[in-house]
Amino acid sequence: MTHAVPALTIERLSVWLVESPIAMTRLQGVGHVKDTVKRVLVRLDAGGLTGWGEAAPWEVFTGTAEAAFAALDRYLRPAVIGQPANHVRALLRRLDKVMVGHAEAKFAIETACFDLLGQASGLSIAELLGGRVRDTIPLSFSIADPDFAADLDRMRAMLPAGHRLFKVKTGVLGHAEDLRRLGAIRDTFGDAVDLRIDYNQALTPFEAMRILRDVDTFRPTFIEQPVPRPHLDTMAALAAAFDTPLLADESCFDATDLMRVVAMRAADAISVKLMKCGGMLAGQALMGIADTAGLAGYAGTLYEGGIALAAGTQFVAAMPGISLGCEFYMPHHVLLEDVLEARIPHQNGMVVVPQAPGLGIRVTDASVRNNTRVLAEAAG
Ligand code: MG
Repeated sequence: MTHAVPALTIERLSVWLVESPIAMTRLQGVGHVKDTVKRVLVRLDAGGLTGWGEAAPWEVFTGTAEAAFAALDRYLRPAVIGQPANHVRALLRRLDKVMVGHAEAKFAIETACFDLLGQASGLSIAELLGGRVRDTIPLSFSIADPDFAADLDRMRAMLPAGHRLFKVKTGVLGHAEDLRRLGAIRDTFGDAVDLRIDYNQALTPFEAMRILRDVDTFRPTFIEQPVPRPHLDTMAALAAAFDTPLLADESCFDATDLMRVVAMRAADAISVKLMKCGGMLAGQALMGIADTAGLAGYAGTLYEGGIALAAGTQFVAAMPGISLGCEFYMPHHVLLEDVLEARIPHQNGMVVVPQAPGLGIRVTDASVRNNTRVLAEAAG
């Protein structure tokens, strides 16, 4: 029997640890980001094609970029070279056998394989994942600048451009300041904004109920991860107490976490991050559980660049249950440099899903070298 797609044996793996400057400091409950972000880029060569992937861990959330670089270069490389890129599930099982954890590094390999498979077949990754259910994804921007006036100015510029979704990062500067900022946003923009609130685990179970009662008066669409990851009992109490949906982010990395969240009724929605769960196939499994349990999905991110967000865009395009939008704003609003030859377009406050095969983007060694600071690289 003949097959339209060639064997796509992976011949070479190239990996870069890169650093990029960012436009503004980001304050978040779990930790802050200033000046630059680091991430790891992967290129797989197979059958005359090149596929790209990205690992963007955040040290206070999932791990370090340096560890992802070592994972890819030292530990995953021997398990990848010589394998067929079109047997994605089999390859991921192989990666899980040689190294525990490191979801971001495995996601980078998975992305590069799907990019190769897409180019070989002429299909976008969304089509490979079952086909798109949406052509655009509502974009949420996070209000996390220590200079709140600058954020208000950004909102003033973004609303006429069609943006409605804004997520305020709370729990960092104190409750009074949070109330002041939320009040200023409602006073300035009224109901023209779809306002969300994210504590990034900043509250203690002791204080959470009372504090959320105050912020709930600003009519947020959801309240995200008020308390630290392990406190599912508090999350469940809050979810029961409020009509406003509660969203689990740090409490829900993967399908195992989600099973616990569902069993304890600890959230009404989840933030799906491909860096947390380890890839698009794992993300599909996660959303299978969420859909079954009636939990809505939101497409969260870490400090990801254009390659990882291209994968996220293809993934969300094929996931009906991810109904709360995405926060894929880094390349257009925060990163001062990125490696894509052209960014994925944003129109009327929406991310426009590319139609081209694979990730639907163009990256070259030159575009990596010219648009990032390369801290380390390896190939073979
Ligand atoms: Mg979050």
